[in-house]
Amino acid sequence: MKMIFISFFLLTFCCAELLGWGFYAHRRINRQAVFSLPPEVFGFYKRYIDFISENAVNPDRRRYAVKGEAEKHFIDLDSYGDSALYQLPPYWNQALEIYTEEVLREKGIGPWNVYHVKIQLTEAMKRKDIKAILRLSADLGHYIADMHVPLHTTKNYNGQLTGQYGIHGFWESRIPELLAEDFDFFVGKAVYHEKPQLSVWEAVAGAHLALDSVLLFEKILTDRFAIDKKYSFEERGGINTQVYSREFTLAYHTMLSGQVERQMKRSIKMTADFWYTAWIDAGQPDLSELDLGPTEWPKENLNPDKNLKVREHEGLVLTHMRPFFPVALIRKRIFPSLKYSDKS
Ligand SMILES: [Zn+2]
Repeated sequence: MKMIFISFFLLTFCCAELLGWGFYAHRRINRQAVFSLPPEVFGFYKRYIDFISENAVNPDRRRYAVKGEAEKHFIDLDSYGDSALYQLPPYWNQALEIYTEEVLREKGIGPWNVYHVKIQLTEAMKRKDIKAILRLSADLGHYIADMHVPLHTTKNYNGQLTGQYGIHGFWESRIPELLAEDFDFFVGKAVYHEKPQLSVWEAVAGAHLALDSVLLFEKILTDRFAIDKKYSFEERGGINTQVYSREFTLAYHTMLSGQVERQMKRSIKMTADFWYTAWIDAGQPDLSELDLGPTEWPKENLNPDKNLKVREHEGLVLTHMRPFFPVALIRKRIFPSLKYSDKS
C-alpha cells in the first residue's frame, strides 16, 4: 500500500514537472499575448491564435525527441556561484570565450536560447516564411515563459536538495490550473525592446531573486499544515491521484502575494513584446497577405527518442514508478496523440 501511495505521489509531481510551466499555463500565456499586440500584427496572430497556443507546449515534448533541446529550458545560475547574475556574459559568443559549450549546455542555456529564437523569428518574418513564423512564435512564447519560473534558474529545480520534492510542479502547474481563471491577465500594449538579450537577463534575474521566497514559504506552510491537510486526492485520468490540497495551494499563493500570477503576466507581456520586436526588426513586413489553411499548418515529429537522457531525476522517478505505472502510460500523458509500444 505504501508503495502504491508513493507511486501516486510521484506520478502527479513527475508529470507536472515534465511539462515545464504546465501545458495549461504555456497555452494560456501564448494565447493571452496575442491580445497585447498592436493592430499592425494583431490580425495575423489572431488568425493563428489556435496554432500558437496549442503548439506552445511543443518545446517540452521536443525535449524527449531532440538532442540539445532539454538545456534550452533552464539555467542553473547557482551552479556558477553566488554572483552569477553579474558575472555571466549576456551574449552567447562572450560566454563561449569563458566556458566550453559543453559546460554551458550542462548548466542550461535558456537566456541565450531565447535571444537566438527571437533572431530566427526576425529572419523568418523578413522572408515571409509563414510556417517558420508560426512555429518560432509559439516556441518563443514557451522559452520566454520558462525564463520567468524561479525554479528554472536553479540546480535545486524540484526542491530535491532541500527536502521539498514536488515543488516545481506545485508552483508552475498546480497553482495556475487551480487559480488562473481568476487571474487578471491585462498587461497593456506590447513595446519594442532595443536590446532583447539584456531584457531576457533582466527577466531571469527577477525570477532568480524570487527563488528564496518560493522555497522558504513552502517550508513555513509545510510546518503549519498536517500532512493530510497539505495533500488531497483528485481523480486524474481515472486514477485517484495525490495532489497539493486546495487549502495549501491558496495559502501558498497568498503568502507569495500572487507571485505566480505576476510571473505569468510578465511572461505574457514579454512574449508579445518580443513578437512585436521581431516584426519591427524584420522591417515591418505586411503579414496580412500570408495565408495558411489548418491542413497546411506545420507539424512536427515529436516521437520520443529512448536514448535521450533528460535531467537525471526524471529518469530516476520513472524507474521508481515502473512497477505500478508503465512508462508508456506516463508518456501517453505527455504525448497523448502518439502511439507507444513500451511493454514495461
Ligand atoms: Zn519548457
